[in-house]
Amino acid sequence: MGNYFQPDIETMSREEISELQLKNLQWQVKRVYENVQMYRERMDDAGVHPDDIKELSDLSKLPFTTKQDLRDYYPFQLLAVRKRDIVRIHASSGTTGKQIVAGYTRNDLDQWANGVARQLVATGASNKSRVQVSYGYGLFTGGLGAHQGAEKVGAMVIPTSSGNTERQIRFMCDLGTTHLCCTPSYAMYLGETVKEMGVKNQLNLQAGIFGAEPWTEEMRKQIQDALGLKAYDIYGLTEIMGPGVAYECECQNGMHICEDMIIPEIIDPDTEEVLPPGSFGELVLTTVTKEGQPMIRYRTRDLCRLDYSTCSCGRTHVRMKKPAGRTDDMLIIRGVNVFPSQIEEVLLRNSIEVSPNYQIVVDRVNNTDTFDINVELSPRFTGDVDAEKRKLESQLRAQLGIGAKVHLLRPKSIERSEGKAKRVIDNRKLTD
Ligand code: ADP
Ligand code: ZN
Repeated sequence: MGNYFQPDIETMSREEISELQLKNLQWQVKRVYENVQMYRERMDDAGVHPDDIKELSDLSKLPFTTKQDLRDYYPFQLLAVRKRDIVRIHASSGTTGKQIVAGYTRNDLDQWANGVARQLVATGASNKSRVQVSYGYGLFTGGLGAHQGAEKVGAMVIPTSSGNTERQIRFMCDLGTTHLCCTPSYAMYLGETVKEMGVKNQLNLQAGIFGAEPWTEEMRKQIQDALGLKAYDIYGLTEIMGPGVAYECECQNGMHICEDMIIPEIIDPDTEEVLPPGSFGELVLTTVTKEGQPMIRYRTRDLCRLDYSTCSCGRTHVRMKKPAGRTDDMLIIRGVNVFPSQIEEVLLRNSIEVSPNYQIVVDRVNNTDTFDINVELSPRFTGDVDAEKRKLESQLRAQLGIGAKVHLLRPKSIERSEGKAKRVIDNRKLTD
């Protein structure tokens, strides 16, 4: 059994969780019906009234909310409180189009900090820890989100933000940072730079809390190796609150969703039917305690599965498996569905020869999609470049069911990311 930040909440029985969720859901549905025009109109159209929410399964009667809604009702029309009650604004990183904003009340910030504090404590953090926040500060939820959670734990917070990588690593050594929070791609970059500076033996890192973008188990191993820490996955999104939605415990067997604040469902993204427990599909989240900008049945577009079995850490909140990709991350190339994570898997399998720094370039020439993958050779590579290229192309074809042209580049020729990595350049969109 590990440490909990809020044991009474983190270890509630399933009955207690359901009872609390129903009570909060009823409260939330009533207030969005009264205060948000979009929800009221949609519920009226669907013929549902707040009084119809009598049990948890009645959630499925409510209409979905999408990212497009947040764009259409930008910036304030989805607020369920007066603007003067909003004390903070954040915005999504805009990975998939025009950015959206989220407004938080004072209570929302406090709840959010609790979620992040739970994830930090699950990685062994306490008031004795030194937490370096290398997520970007500002509109992105990563920096300030992790910061408030670390303060709540009472840790010594080192708010370096992202960037300025060498200086960042010097602080890490000098101040004895024990916990590092950043995106996995920045953790890789930090690892590379630590190696170049030759300071790995001066680090005092115990755990890394990495999220905000997809990453693979192979990447986890490489980061752990490079920085000498245990790497934990966290999941979050601006629309729901930011980091703090779900987190790994020491068992690292899925991420516990903060079920007192959020009700998860898995749906079939095509039919929109709720799928039985354990099914793979699109994650849909409802915020039942958030005051400022509540989300009812928000379609995350992230694909995963939920695991309700008991976790040996003692936490009872359901675990979500690592998202396999987002429905809108998926590229359709010559009619075949391709996820960047599939390509990453192949590259990481060949980590002696190539580095996981890559970029996918898709274009359309003479009505046919072109598919190129730029990959950096590892600094250790001494073999035959042509043979290596052929080997990767054949492994990629087997994995993806479609041919890609591989271009092997010199180490360090692809720009490093300090936040979320940009892996895909789809030039087809420009000409459509
Ligand atoms: P944007 O949609 O502009 O990227 P956010 O910064 O809010 O906005 O990013 C949230 C998204 O990031 C999630 O919906 C999910 O696709 C991705 N994400 C966050 N954490 C993880 C994680 N641990 N693993 C995989 N994907 C993640
Ligand atoms: Zn657990």
